[in-house]
Amino acid sequence: MIPIEIHMFPCLNDNYGFLVHDQESGFTAAVDTPEAETILAELSKKNWNLTHIFNTHHHADHAGGNIAIKEATECLIIGPRADASRIPGIDKLVGDGDEFLLGGHPVRIFDTPGHTRGHIIYYLPEDGVAFVGDTLFAMGCGRLFEGTPAQMWNSLQKLTQLPDDTEIYCAHEYTQANARFALSVEPGNQALIDRAREVDSLRARNEPTVPTTLGLEKATNPFLRPMSLEISTNVGLGGSGTEEVDLVEVFARTRALKDSF
Ligand SMILES: [Zn+2]
Repeated sequence: MIPIEIHMFPCLNDNYGFLVHDQESGFTAAVDTPEAETILAELSKKNWNLTHIFNTHHHADHAGGNIAIKEATECLIIGPRADASRIPGIDKLVGDGDEFLLGGHPVRIFDTPGHTRGHIIYYLPEDGVAFVGDTLFAMGCGRLFEGTPAQMWNSLQKLTQLPDDTEIYCAHEYTQANARFALSVEPGNQALIDRAREVDSLRARNEPTVPTTLGLEKATNPFLRPMSLEISTNVGLGGSGTEEVDLVEVFARTRALKDSF
């Protein structure tokens, strides 16, 4: 099987648009629709016909271009069953454990509530890539607009079960700000220090920091590292090493600190 081709481009202020193309069938999916005009222009540049939209969640910078793109391409819109009423033009409702094909490529759905109640991610196991929307970011995670810390922690744990070399396509270029926060709660993490420096030099050249890999996130993302003694101490929990630290509580405090960072 020819590997899936992924075309990534900036949209709006700090979103990324993604086109996912199967050469053999010609099927092409847009992951979310931050900006209809940009996505349609990128499709014609690549000379690809859009067959699908994969929506991760209902926010306007993810589903706002659905109707205009559907009118222009007659594509099929796939989105979260748990949030069908808020996904414009939705045709096919999917949820946790569902699997379907994009051409020859299996696509598996995980429900990842937290950022919104109906957020889903799209995982292509044979290609080793995951489109995670606003659930996980490079060194960050989505704000908890509609979910509890326990829900989001559970959602992130589903992601951490994937292989470490899984390429993670997150929907925003938030990495540099996320690195500054991560260093504030785990300043002694050498992998994080190294990565922050690398991110600064990429951004200085105006290069993207997306995709990341799951392994890199496990090593540097504070929202996947509540078991770090340095983090639990810096958010005001644990530190003595004697009592059990509640990982959800560490995660919740880390998220709350980030909200006001
Ligand atoms: Zn969002």
